[in-house]
Amino acid sequence: METKKIAIVGAGISGLLACKYTLSKGLHPIVFESQTGIGGVWTKTVETTKLQTPKPAYQFSDFPWPDSVTEDFPDGRQVLEYVESYAHRFDLIKHVKFGTRVLSIGYDGPPGEAMRSWSLWGGDGGPFGSGGKWKIRVQDCLSLETETYEVDFVILCVGRFSGVPNIPEFPPNRGQEAFHGEVIHSMDYAAMDYQAAREFVRGKRVVVVGLQKSALDIAMECSAVNGVERPCTVLYRTEHWIVPDYLPWGVPLVLLYLNRFSELLVHKPGEGFLLSLLATLLSPLRWAVSKFVESGIKRKLPLEKFGMVPKHSFLQQISSCLVSRLPEKFYDRVEEGSIILKKAPEFEFCKNGISIDGEVEPLNSDLVIFATGFRGEKKLINLFESQLFQDCLSGSPNSIVPLYSYWLKLNYVITSNQGMHSSSDSPTSSDWVLGKHCKLVHVRDTVPVAS
Ligand SMILES: Cc1cc2nc3c(=O)[nH]c(=O)nc-3n(C[C@H](O)[C@H](O)[C@H](O)COP(=O)(O)OP(=O)(O)OC[C@H]3O[C@@H](n4cnc5c(N)ncnc54)[C@H](O)[C@@H]3O)c2cc1C
Repeated sequence: METKKIAIVGAGISGLLACKYTLSKGLHPIVFESQTGIGGVWTKTVETTKLQTPKPAYQFSDFPWPDSVTEDFPDGRQVLEYVESYAHRFDLIKHVKFGTRVLSIGYDGPPGEAMRSWSLWGGDGGPFGSGGKWKIRVQDCLSLETETYEVDFVILCVGRFSGVPNIPEFPPNRGQEAFHGEVIHSMDYAAMDYQAAREFVRGKRVVVVGLQKSALDIAMECSAVNGVERPCTVLYRTEHWIVPDYLPWGVPLVLLYLNRFSELLVHKPGEGFLLSLLATLLSPLRWAVSKFVESGIKRKLPLEKFGMVPKHSFLQQISSCLVSRLPEKFYDRVEEGSIILKKAPEFEFCKNGISIDGEVEPLNSDLVIFATGFRGEKKLINLFESQLFQDCLSGSPNSIVPLYSYWLKLNYVITSNQGMHSSSDSPTSSDWVLGKHCKLVHVRDTVPVAS
């Protein structure tokens, strides 16, 4: 029987897991990676970035961390080394085509109308059901030559935290063109080598826009270089629950949220009557757990003092998978004045810096760093030639919900106490509108999920 060819886009953790999994099923994977090495986001992190998830929960299920890594939260370099040794251990590197960017993905199979009417994955419920082929157009990043591969199945492992930066839009002449200083995105900062990044911010009045992981790490680095003489301002729109550790009142957060029981506490799309009833009956418990965690965080961090108590609950924060770990001594820097926290729901650029809605004086600055995340969905949509697939990804009227709301149900990578592994559960027909039409899965980012 012909060995099915699988194209895997990306050789980060997800791509490597997908590669190992498809090999174990006797398939023939080809991993396309635009960079020159494996590891994805871990190839370029800010110097002080550490793993946010405790090490035991960010571990390959069949490849434990080496004893030499004793820290609970290893740094970016250690994570990269760990991922590299995983790839070597399972001999995955030979399946990766480095320096090869996937430009576009087309599908040569049944017409769109036929696919729209399918109620089963791949038309008949099987992974290779309809007999169509995917055409993967790739470009060699050095020679710029293009080539097309024909495969039976595509697994997208392109990651969420890279590629297309999410930069806020401004009215004409009020965006960065009005500003006489420099503007970069956090990914540009992360791409610099450590010494170059320090020199780049040295002596500058830096404004970091954002309040998630990258923003906090970059602010810490700027404050270490420039001290109180040139404080770094963190401009944010909304306060977030950022945890000092994962032990509110000494209780591991994992026990409170990341287990099968805690899944019953929340309403889920498409849930049946019984699950819905259960989630409703358990809502007081849901509320109490959230308050318990919030009070634990407030006890450890001076949130009230600096006006940083979020208006939303911790439950909402963790449900959006946006819980960051606060860099050590962050509030010490705020106390000493080398980091200034400034709320700015609306702002625009002016000649000398940033003009904040409701404030008379502009915030003078030399460098603005947008740590405002990425447009993950745009990166995916841009890959597809056909409008049908683009619509599926962006959430057309015909699709149930956009891809990103659905990826929990996909063939996923799990990070849990049991570690990272590719799920052997096949998506079913009702799982994912795009999946059922076109035999394509997106291995999702490794957001902790209980197993
Ligand atoms: C600073 C930082 C800290 C983090 N810390 C944690 C943490 O503590 N815990 C946690 O669970 N998660 C964390 N994450 C999330 C992290 O993204 C995931 O844990 C995981 O590493 C994602 O792996 P991935 O393979 O899905 O994506 P990536 O690592 O983003 O890999 C995607 C790969 O696809 C390649 N690619 C993309 N498009 C193309 C294309 N068109 N053609 C060819 N190749 C392409 C990219 O070059 C890249 O190598 C962190 C992320 C960042 C940025």
